Amino acid sequence: MADEVLTKHGKEMFAHNGLLYVSDKTSKVDSALKFWRCEQRHRCKARLHTKAGEVVRELNNHSHEASAGQESRGDP
Ligand SMILES: [Zn+2]
Repeated sequence: MADEVLTKHGKEMFAHNGLLYVSDKTSKVDSALKFWRCEQRHRCKARLHTKAGEVVRELNNHSHEASAGQESRGDP
């Protein structure tokens, strides 16, 4: 269900429920705890927290449908 992947740019991404998240930062107190932002962060506030690859927390709702396999780039 959840999977960590790397983009062609070497940026870490996390797939969850058909939605992609981009690595935001790692917790300073717990290196296993990672914070992710929705890849469509320009229009979506959804965030995700994972620990050792497991989703531990979901914040905010996506403002869009799942778009796995669909690429819409263009924003800087
Ligand atoms: Zn989203």
